[in-house]
Amino acid sequence: MTGASIGLAALVAGCLWLIAHSFVAQANRQQLNDMLQAAVIRLERQIDLAVISMGELGAQGPYDCSPSVSKAIEDIAFRSVSIREIRVSSPRATCWADNAHEQLFQASLAASDPVPAINPAYELAPMEAGEWKGLMVRWTSEDGSLTAFLATAGLLFDILPGELRDHARMDMTLSDQRLVSSYEPEVAADLDGDFSDFTKASDRYPIRVRLMIEEAVVASWNSNFGSDIVAITGLFCLGLGYLGARGLVRPPTPLRQLDDALSRGHIHPVYQPLFCLSTGRMTGFEMLARWTRPDGTSISPAVFIPLAEDSGRIDRLTFALLDRAGAEIGDMLRRNEALKLSFNVTPDQLIGSGFVENFKVKIQNAGLNPLQLVMEITERQPISDVEAALSVSRELSALGIRLAIDDAGTGHNGLSSLHALQAHYLKIDKYFVDGVALDRKSAVLVEVLISLASQFGMEVVAEGIETEEQRIKLLDLGIKEGQGYLYAKPLPASDLIARVENSVKPLPKAA
Ligand code: C2E
Ligand code: CA
Ligand code: CA
Repeated sequence: MTGASIGLAALVAGCLWLIAHSFVAQANRQQLNDMLQAAVIRLERQIDLAVISMGELGAQGPYDCSPSVSKAIEDIAFRSVSIREIRVSSPRATCWADNAHEQLFQASLAASDPVPAINPAYELAPMEAGEWKGLMVRWTSEDGSLTAFLATAGLLFDILPGELRDHARMDMTLSDQRLVSSYEPEVAADLDGDFSDFTKASDRYPIRVRLMIEEAVVASWNSNFGSDIVAITGLFCLGLGYLGARGLVRPPTPLRQLDDALSRGHIHPVYQPLFCLSTGRMTGFEMLARWTRPDGTSISPAVFIPLAEDSGRIDRLTFALLDRAGAEIGDMLRRNEALKLSFNVTPDQLIGSGFVENFKVKIQNAGLNPLQLVMEITERQPISDVEAALSVSRELSALGIRLAIDDAGTGHNGLSSLHALQAHYLKIDKYFVDGVALDRKSAVLVEVLISLASQFGMEVVAEGIETEEQRIKLLDLGIKEGQGYLYAKPLPASDLIARVENSVKPLPKAA
């Protein structure tokens, strides 16, 4: 080979490498933008919930702080974890859902400088009261004002995939840059080098989310490809050039990427153990979806689950995961009949046409025993047809499948989901567990949920247990079963099976 041809080959390889890198960088940017969008939607949903709740209150009549108004605001503040407090104010009277908050919030309310929403009857302002940080949403009408105080502290914790979390910070602000919520790594001082900056604004409310991420990470994330990838990219570029010249090619949309990932099996299950809070014995596990690309990097479920839901692919995703679970852990489940496998289903899926029939066939094909299955239905989304949900719930019970209400306390269904689903388990959301050992209100809310569960004959499971203090407090409150990083993170099938074989894990020693 002559020097000139070696030089030419090196030049071509270099060009291909650059092209491959620029593809990856562009795909990374797109994904980071999708994550920002997921964060914006999360806050929009919380504000929507406040707006809906205030609308319901407003429709009830005069802001006179009569016993019925006081009861209504108490109910709203208790049944929703994101709405921490509600204030009703008119020339006639002012009242709070929890009078203990009056002093705490009144001063910061007086000092707030709200930003109007598109509908100027609504205003938003960041709130800081003692340790508490959040967002105020106020609705003003001729009769007076209704104000909701939203807890926004945990909104961003799981938006970024694990491999990016130590290299980025996220801020959620109002349009005037005042902070509403933020995420930063545990050792924020380790953030290093130059930063790429991404911002996404809501087109419904004056809020935006900003991501600052190490530039080197944006460039290197997903790009550990070798010469084979360069060669494949080269061929791909040739094909692309040909198709492009013929005007046939479109850039892969997130949906096409999702379809591709589903058909290639890149979306797969991991399993997070559930355990007995007193003995540390494993009682089962929750199946959670992961999208892992061939290079080992991942896309957060906060991004792809809503995409699958909105595009009608969520059934396909759920059934593909169950199928895979049957293949990976079916034998282990058959050897351990006391263990249960939980999996997530949205309310819309539950009442979708033909769901139970399809489901029956899928679990039979997957070799899963219905008596070991627990279907978790999130309370974050409303149940649009309560009658239909009840009838599906009965059909599932007849098959021996148990139901769990997931993220309990975070939705705005109130008690309707308890009635509608006749579920076996109530899973208390991480938001309550976070505060249970620290603040009285979280502990009281957990107590309320436990008492509700017992009235409906349900067992309680606490999720997101990270500390020994939380485990002890939850046990004190009467909860027997839980899930969380304290015991185990979500595990691949092989690690789960190994752990089941050693069945009992000693509890970590208290500090
Ligand atoms: P979820 O059902 O509430 O699942 C619990 C989430 O909390 C999981 O996040 C889990 O990894 C995380 N988690 C559990 N323990 C701890 C802890 O101690 N600390 C912290 N910081 N996090 C903990 P993940 O896997 O990111 O899933 C997020 C959500 O995505 C799930 O929340 C669920 O709503 C949804 N999801 C995941 N897989 C599926 C699926 O197959 N179908 C549907 N419909 N939704 C799914
Ligand atoms: Ca769940
Ligand atoms: Ca949850």
